[in-house]
Amino acid sequence: MSDAPARLALVRAALAKAERAAGRPEGETTLIAVSKTFDAADILPVLEAGQRTFGENRVQESQAKWPELKAQFQDVELHLIGPLQSNKTAEAVALFDAIHTVDRPKIAQAIAKEMAAQGRSLKLFVQVNVGSEPQKAGVDPEDADAFVAQCRDAYGLEIEGLMCIPPVDEPPAPYFALLDQIARRNGLKGLSMGMSSDFADAVPFGATHVRVGSAIFGTRPKPE
Ligand SMILES: *Cc1c(COP(=O)(O)O)cnc(C)c1O
Repeated sequence: MSDAPARLALVRAALAKAERAAGRPEGETTLIAVSKTFDAADILPVLEAGQRTFGENRVQESQAKWPELKAQFQDVELHLIGPLQSNKTAEAVALFDAIHTVDRPKIAQAIAKEMAAQGRSLKLFVQVNVGSEPQKAGVDPEDADAFVAQCRDAYGLEIEGLMCIPPVDEPPAPYFALLDQIARRNGLKGLSMGMSSDFADAVPFGATHVRVGSAIFGTRPKPE
């Protein structure tokens, strides 16, 4: 039997507790269950427990498991939280309901073109490299305002919010605060921040979406 439904309940309770502590309405934060590397048999019990919002980091892996699961659970909302290559944009726009990793003009333009061609409208988040780490994706904090404006003005994209992955081994709070600050000055309401280890810390900074994988599904068996 899967332990995931019990862990899901614990995560939901911890999220509700963090919302209460922050003086925010309970249930305001969307929990994205990150199912990357897990197969359909692992995901099914979590769907059956009522979870409907899921995150994946690879387009190809998602195509192998989600069309069938989505046919079974039609109200699933699927979020792409990993990097997007422009040659995968058509597949991504067809399968996903949200993309959290808009981080360069080429991808913004490709997404705009595909959404128009397919008549689909996805929720879009701009990824910000809050720690300005060379190995990480995302726009640098100082370039975020200009990139959001470019997405809106040059490509006609409606941007839902911002996403970040703070540096590991550092307290995340200052980075959550930074993302909130950038979102506010750009009139953005969405904040995708907080993972298994720190989602409760992201709630007082206004996280609208937390992305939680291992705390629900367990340690990932395979490399990402
Ligand atoms: C894997 C992943 C997560 C979830 O990580 P956990 O630590 O397992 O909760 C969240 N966000 C992104 C972008 C990821 O790639």
